[in-house]
This record gives sequence, structure tokens and C-alpha cells, in this order.
Amino acid sequence: MRKRILRLLAGLLNLLLLAGCAEGIAREDVAPTGRLEGCSLYLKAVEGLPEDFIFGMDASQVPSLEASGVKYYDVAGNEKDVFRILVENGVNYIRVRVWNDPYDAQGNGYGGGNCTVDTALEIGKRATKYGMKLLVDFHYSDFWADPGKQQAPKAWKDLDLEAKTQALEAYTRESLQKLRDAGVDVGMVQVGNETNGALCGETSWSAIVQLMAAGSRAVRAVYPEAKVAVHFANPENGAYPAYASNLKLYGLDYDVFGTSYYPYWHGSLENLTNILRQIRTQYGKEVLVLETSYAWTGEDSDFFGNTISEGSAVAKPYPYTLQGQVNSLRDLTQAVLDADGIGVCYWEGTWISAGGSTKEENQKLWEQYGSGWASSYAAEYDPQDAGKWYGGCAVDNQAFFDAQGRALESLMAFNLIRYGNESVPEPPEYEMRWTPTEAEAADEGENLLHNPGFEDGADAPWTATNLGGCKELNIEKKTGDSRSGDWHYHFWSPDAGTAEFTLEQSPEGLEAGTYDFRIWIMGGDCGEAEVYAYAKLDGEIVAKAPMEITVWNEWHAGEITGIEYAEGRTLTVGVYVKASNPGAWGKIDDAILYRQ
Ligand code: CA
Repeated sequence: MRKRILRLLAGLLNLLLLAGCAEGIAREDVAPTGRLEGCSLYLKAVEGLPEDFIFGMDASQVPSLEASGVKYYDVAGNEKDVFRILVENGVNYIRVRVWNDPYDAQGNGYGGGNCTVDTALEIGKRATKYGMKLLVDFHYSDFWADPGKQQAPKAWKDLDLEAKTQALEAYTRESLQKLRDAGVDVGMVQVGNETNGALCGETSWSAIVQLMAAGSRAVRAVYPEAKVAVHFANPENGAYPAYASNLKLYGLDYDVFGTSYYPYWHGSLENLTNILRQIRTQYGKEVLVLETSYAWTGEDSDFFGNTISEGSAVAKPYPYTLQGQVNSLRDLTQAVLDADGIGVCYWEGTWISAGGSTKEENQKLWEQYGSGWASSYAAEYDPQDAGKWYGGCAVDNQAFFDAQGRALESLMAFNLIRYGNESVPEPPEYEMRWTPTEAEAADEGENLLHNPGFEDGADAPWTATNLGGCKELNIEKKTGDSRSGDWHYHFWSPDAGTAEFTLEQSPEGLEAGTYDFRIWIMGGDCGEAEVYAYAKLDGEIVAKAPMEITVWNEWHAGEITGIEYAEGRTLTVGVYVKASNPGAWGKIDDAILYRQ
């Protein structure tokens, strides 16, 4: 009751605050400050997260999408400024990429949002209005810079290193001054993007650091209160200490060592924590993740294929579901915090379809407004990649908005990670939350099933029969997805109607008597589903108990009581699952059979 009154008061307070603010809204006025209600996803709060921990969102594509006609809506369906939706959902930093001159001689944009300092200015003003800081990501290129591409801008390509250094410093200074003059709250500036051994056409570390140093001087001059960041990719390849050593050797003045971390390619979280901690302690630099993302669906929504889809030959530590997306972000946040890191930025969580209903319609929008990853006009600058593969969005299935611009529940992850769910009070999340019945308690140690919770790390004596062509059907070691212990039985299937199977065992040596059986399941994305526990005698089903699959971490039991067993017969107990939706998944754990 007390909780209800508090909630009412909090709601009233919110209304008053909302009524009182039109322009210049403070972040604390709109961002929640307590546990969340009404979210079907479950996340345990990350404990000890500092108040100023950075939850960033790269939103560089937004202006080009809005020009294409895209509108954004909050989780409840209200149309709003997308930056307001972000701040309401716990984002406190906006990141924006800046290219020198992503246009051809006729003024046609290369795409990828045609992001220049003017884009950063527009985004920066909107971020500042909502009390978020801006992270300016200079690529020092006219188009995408990453470990495979660090091409100098057209205007600088024939300059020698000294002239390029001066040009870079002047450009950085002028760009930042534009933002400063407009009152944009710049908190951090990257001098290069994923600069693994190259920057702006230079590939020797002395030259790279000389250019970075020019950028750093400009930041210190215009925004002395902002942090200077460097950014690398591939934490899994072991090169970070060497990079940090080179930066030190050539005397770079910087504050933050940042990394990309995409779970598909970038190694384990444990490795990430270790390597960031090493940089933190050995070089005394702050560390953070500047880019990450995770797919919430395998489906494409803009008629341009995605980098990640079901069946991609990459690591897949979580299912491609909303819960998988938020689990990825939560685990990453924990890993960064474990390294004493200062934040996590999500990459382009606002990049969705340009909104056309056919590929041709979208193609027109991509060409006209630069709302795809590259337009055909980029061919002059990047003939090998953009020139061949130009088109739309390759990450729409990793955004926090659906194809119509409505926020997904997973956007609540930032607040869930900070505050936890209201709907599951004091959840003993990863622990066993099964209170045994009196009968079970009395019969402790009398579970007549073998390997009842799959803790043997092997199937036997369980038998799974794959009836529908379920893609993944196997035991799995993942404590967070187990009801107790570390192991459970896992299923997942990307194609509609293929998730159909039984999982059963036939214990030997039973005495005649009356038996009870129970087994647990949880999962999601199942659509129409038929799920039940069953008991068979000599292969014929004699009892069924319906079961439910709802959302992640909500376990449901199927229980059959009063199975009459006579010696010489074969008793088989198990679970049957049939789910209609593509992407149906679930976990089975903690079976028990005991004699009454
Ligand atoms: Ca796409």
C-alpha cells in the first residue's frame, strides 16, 4: 500500500514537472529516478553504477531520416522529439559522427546521414536542450572511417604531414567553435574513429599521434572542460596495450581510451574487462565503450540486407530478441563497470527504415536525403565499397525503434540497468527461486530422475526428439538462463512453426506406487504455442499438464500428480513444446519425479 501511494505521488510529481517545462527541459525532469513499471522485459539493476555513468546513443542518422519523413514515438505511442524520448529513457550522452565534406562537386551527399559539423550542430542543440552532453566523433575523412578505411578528406589528400596537421587542427578548432557559439554542451571529443594503426591516410604511429595531438590541442583550446578521447576497435586482438604504449611514446595528451565492442566479433566480455582494466591501471586513462549494439530481431525492415541476421556466421551470445538485446547491454555495462569504466555508448539505436513501402521508394529517399548507409554519389570517394554496395540501413534490426518509429520496450534498458524493474520486486534473479512443496521437501534427495537439472552437462538420460526442425535444441550452460545451477535445456528456431519437440526420460528401477512429476520452462517470442508436461506408460500418454511460455526469466511449471505405476511397466516423463513464431525460444530446467 505504501508503495502504491509513493507511486501515485511520483506520478503527480511527474505531471507537475511536465506541465512546468516547455523549452530547456532538464534531464532530471523527464528521466525516471526509480524502478520501472509496466515493462515486460526483466533486467536486474547493475549495482554500484555511478550517477554520472555515461549511457550514450549515437544518433547521427536522425536528421536525414526525419528529412525522409520518419517520425519517432515513445513506447506508449506518443509522437515526440526523438531526443526527448532518449532522455526519458535514461540516455545522457548523444554521439555524432562528423565528416569533413561528404558531398560530391555537384552537392550530392554520400549518405550515412551526410554528417558534417552542421549535422553535429543540429543534433547538439537538441541534445543540449534536453540536458544531454554531446560526444563529437571526428572521423577526419569525407566518409566512413574504420579499421579498414582511414582515407584523408579530398581537400587534404595531397597535403604533406605538416600541412595536414595544421589543416586538421584548424578544422577541429573551427568546427568546435561553431558548436560552442551555439551553446552546445560538448562533453567529449574523439580525435579519430576506430583508428587501428591508421588515421587520415597516415599509417605510422608517429604521424597518427601527431594528427591526434593537433585535434587534442583544438579541443583543449575551444572546450577545455571536455574530454579528449581516442577510439579503437577489436579488443579481442590483444593490440590495445601496444596502441596505448604508442600514444604514450609520442606524447599524446588525452583523457579517455575508448573501444568498440560488438558481441558478434569482439571476443568475450571477460577479455574486454581485462584489457580495459589494464589500460586503466597501466596508463591511467579513463576507459569506455564507444560503440555497441545487438539485434532484437533477425528480420530486415528497409529492403536492404542487414549486417546481422539469423544464421550469420558470428558469435551469438544472446537470442535476437528484445530480451536478448537488453541482456547484451546489461552484461556489457557490468563488464565496463568491472573495469572501472565510465560508460557505454550504443551505436545508432535510432537508425531505422527511411519509411518507404518498397525498395524503390526507399532508394529514392536514400539518394535524396542520405538516409541510407551510402548513396550512389559516394562512388567517387569510395569506389570499392560504397560504389558497389550503396543502399539503405544495415542495422535497423539493432535499433531501439521499430520500422514505424515507435520505441521498443528494449529502449527501457538504460533505466532498467540503473534502477531495475518495479514489476519484479527484489528479484533473486539468477538464483534458484523454487520453493519446494512439502512433499518435495520431505523427499529431498528422492528425485527419481537422473540428471534432473542437466547439471551433468550432457543429455543422458534425457532424449530430445526434434519434430519440427528446430534449429537449436541442446543442453546449454548459462547460469543466468538456468532456473537453478548452471545448465538447462535450450531451444530456439528462426523459422515459423519449426520449434516443435519433446524432451523426456524413462527412469529405471521404480517401485510400484503413486508418483508426481514436475518440470519448469521459460522463454519468449513463441506466438501461438502448445506446451505441456506429460507422463507416458509403455509409450502411451496417460496424463498431460498444460504449461505456459511468457517472457524471459518467468518460469512456469507443468505438474502431474497421481501417476499410478506398476512394476514391469515403462514410465516416461517429459515435456512437449510447439511454438508458431519465428524466433521462438525457451529454457527447460529442474525436473522432479518422486513417489508420494
Ligand atoms: Ca536493413
